[in-house]
Amino acid sequence: MKKKLVMIGNGMAGVRTIEELLKLQPDGFEITIFGNEPHPNYNRIMLSTVLQGDKSIEDIIMNDWDWYKSNDIQLFAGEEVVEIDKEKKQVISEQGRKVDYDELIIATGSSSFILPVPGSDKKGVVGFRDIHDCEMMIKDSRQYKKAAVIGGGLLGLEAARGLLNLGMEVDVVHLMPHLMERQLDGTASGMLKKELENQGMNFLLEKQTAEILGDERVTGLRFTDGTEIRADLVVMAVGIRPNVQLAKDSGIYVNRGIVVNDYMETDVQNIYAVGECAEHREIVYGLVAPLYEQGKVLAANLAGIPTNPYEGTICGTQLKVSGCDLFSAGEIGDDEGTKSIKVHNEFDGIYKKIVIRDNRIAGIVLYGDTKDSNRLFRMLTKREDISGMTSVSILEASGCCGGGEAGDVAAMADDELVCGCNGVTKGTIVEAIRTNELTTVDEVGGCTNAGRSCGRCKSLISDILAYTLGDQYDTTAKKAGICGCTTLSKDEVVAEIREKGLTNVREVMNVLGWSQEEGCSKCRPAINYYLGMVHYDGYKDERDSRLVNEKMHANIQKDGTYSVVPRMYGGVTTAADLKKIAEVAEKYDVPLVKLTGGQRIGLFGVNKEDLPAMWEDLGMPSGYAYGKTLRTVKTCVGEKFCRFGTQDSMGLGIELEKKFERLDTPHKVKMGVSACPRNCAESGIKDIGFVGVDGGWEIYIGGNGGTDLRAADLLDTVKTKEEALEITGAYLQYYRETAAYLERTAPWLERMGLDHVKEVLADENMRKQLNERLDKTLERYNEPWNEAISDRAIKEKYYQVRSVSVE
Ligand SMILES: Cc1cc2nc3c(=O)[nH]c(=O)nc-3n(C[C@H](O)[C@H](O)[C@H](O)COP(=O)(O)OP(=O)(O)OC[C@H]3O[C@@H](n4cnc5c(N)ncnc54)[C@H](O)[C@@H]3O)c2cc1C
Ligand code: SF4
Repeated sequence: MKKKLVMIGNGMAGVRTIEELLKLQPDGFEITIFGNEPHPNYNRIMLSTVLQGDKSIEDIIMNDWDWYKSNDIQLFAGEEVVEIDKEKKQVISEQGRKVDYDELIIATGSSSFILPVPGSDKKGVVGFRDIHDCEMMIKDSRQYKKAAVIGGGLLGLEAARGLLNLGMEVDVVHLMPHLMERQLDGTASGMLKKELENQGMNFLLEKQTAEILGDERVTGLRFTDGTEIRADLVVMAVGIRPNVQLAKDSGIYVNRGIVVNDYMETDVQNIYAVGECAEHREIVYGLVAPLYEQGKVLAANLAGIPTNPYEGTICGTQLKVSGCDLFSAGEIGDDEGTKSIKVHNEFDGIYKKIVIRDNRIAGIVLYGDTKDSNRLFRMLTKREDISGMTSVSILEASGCCGGGEAGDVAAMADDELVCGCNGVTKGTIVEAIRTNELTTVDEVGGCTNAGRSCGRCKSLISDILAYTLGDQYDTTAKKAGICGCTTLSKDEVVAEIREKGLTNVREVMNVLGWSQEEGCSKCRPAINYYLGMVHYDGYKDERDSRLVNEKMHANIQKDGTYSVVPRMYGGVTTAADLKKIAEVAEKYDVPLVKLTGGQRIGLFGVNKEDLPAMWEDLGMPSGYAYGKTLRTVKTCVGEKFCRFGTQDSMGLGIELEKKFERLDTPHKVKMGVSACPRNCAESGIKDIGFVGVDGGWEIYIGGNGGTDLRAADLLDTVKTKEEALEITGAYLQYYRETAAYLERTAPWLERMGLDHVKEVLADENMRKQLNERLDKTLERYNEPWNEAISDRAIKEKYYQVRSVSVE
């Protein structure tokens, strides 16, 4: 006779325990599960994708209804257990259903902690724990504008990012002076804050909520210092509380969680606890990695198979917000017993801190570059003695195969963790690939569970497949993706956008199976660019997917201020414009006024909140000194004034700049027009350059005057300005359509071949079609500075420094 196994809670830890048990003893138990949510087991970690409204519940289901049926599991979904009768060995549900058990697992998880402040029961106050919470937030975001998230920890920041994506303005309120203070030190926390501010979040630090304002529905928050903010939606992300009341009422020993021993047994025979509701050696965990370990031990215990005890877990933390690459584990602070290695590269936005105690790594904080997190985490958890190592070799893996992905994988030890959530090592994956002849990331996940939770390790799994299978690894799968979120190349992404008619960044990431639901700072701007290039006659640009300078329409400087560079077509200005610039520089106390290399005047050191007013006062178009677009057309004075000049260089330069300004290109584009071969406008090192000769213009392409100096190649010689403009249009459009995002024309030309590009541009019909598409694209653009001046929403969203009103 099968034993009766009942489980209370249908969440991640509980169902993983059942999966493990089914592997060990498929026919050992008659299983009944109660879950008070009306869904089958889903991936709670992925709730942020549901919050953003671009994944449905179905997408995050881990075990669908059929899974329960095919494993003969009786599931009572949407039914809460309200009593455990220890004497009768029976559970009773709120509907009065009574089910007997031989063995009982309590896997009730946690609930959001709702601050016990006046008003916390008002409409519009939610936690961030389950599908119901997400649905409420999504609904409210359609009706309301201002959200406040209380809590600047992992959950709070992920919720805030989701709400921003839903179009809300978000204030994050945090009690402490630093965000994620339990995982990050002050430096890393400051970097995180800056990045999130750039993404549009507003922070109110060291603020304690005293009251939630409003009548029936929330209208704002009041803090203990008396200040207030407006809010139509309040998300509480201040912590979780284990769901232990049921166990407590049933007489099971409960401290903060349900107290269990190393085999997940409670103090009552045949009753076990696993997951966030369990307290093991005085620790209650809130991440899946330890819970899955607990589940494994419990499954073996139930199956009667000898197993090592569960002895606790050191957890590593990551944040699922694109653009914020961070990892933290162990101790983050210093004391007299620790020494730490710190590297802070402000230029690249990278910070690393390794805390060392007794010649062993005791803590890790990585921001901006987390590629060594697995290796360092292994050294921490294995307590490796590092006394023979240098600080450089601690910080960076040596890479025995010349670096790169294969080198990185080769340098990993077999026991190095690849999937932190599921505790899967490189060795286990390599073994599974070889034994089971696995060839895809999904197959590896199916066999080892790696990549099945937060999904961040999928690109590393792909590298391990490439490393293990060598040439046998399917080329479509191993080829470098446009970033770590996908294995798809630029050409494949563009082809899919065309074929499937994908129209926005979210859709591309969802439909094409991105491993990180929010993408990253590398892929989002690229996808936005490719979408605009493909849908040239009607794409609505996604400003929030752009790189920060383009989002702001101003270049951010190293001290956090911005530069303002108005357009000066062909480098030609007037006394009136010069006066305006001088007046604005004086009025706003601009610290630096400087002539730029592109023949215009830059105002440097401008505060964010002054930008729209300055633009309005200037009344000049943006010079796009920050954009992946046409920057400048440098010209010489030419035939009008120079005695050597044979052509009207200023005239052509101004026409070129007026025609192609604002055009999105894969990377910045610079032009030069010189009226004779003396080449005063340096046309030979421009993306496209013109040199006046007797009877026409020579056109040069693919030049670069930057770090990778390249002399431009002669493309053609034309007689008229009109021809020059036509060939420029075709050239730019061909570059736009065939280059990868962030590929300059110089490497692009080398890759494509000069002869090929010449051939394409020599074809009149081709030139015509390219120009037609280009002209349609150009119709799409508006002057961005004007837009910011006239559109209040843009002004408030991007340029307002928000302050707390004091009453
Ligand atoms: C938005 C979000 C993001 C997260 N991101 C990460 C991450 O990146 N990495 C990570 O490791 N972890 C993350 N977590 C945490 C992770 O989801 C949890 O650690 C994990 O889900 C806990 O599993 P569990 O089974 O213990 O509890 P749960 O998954 O909460 O399952 C418990 C279930 O039991 C039900 N239940 C409770 N009482 C009863 C009862 N009396 N009768 C019937 N059913 C009952 C609950 O409703 C719930 O469905 C995240 C959590 C959230 C909310
Ligand atoms: S490039 Fe020739 S025409 Fe132009 S300024 Fe120089 S010398 Fe004069």
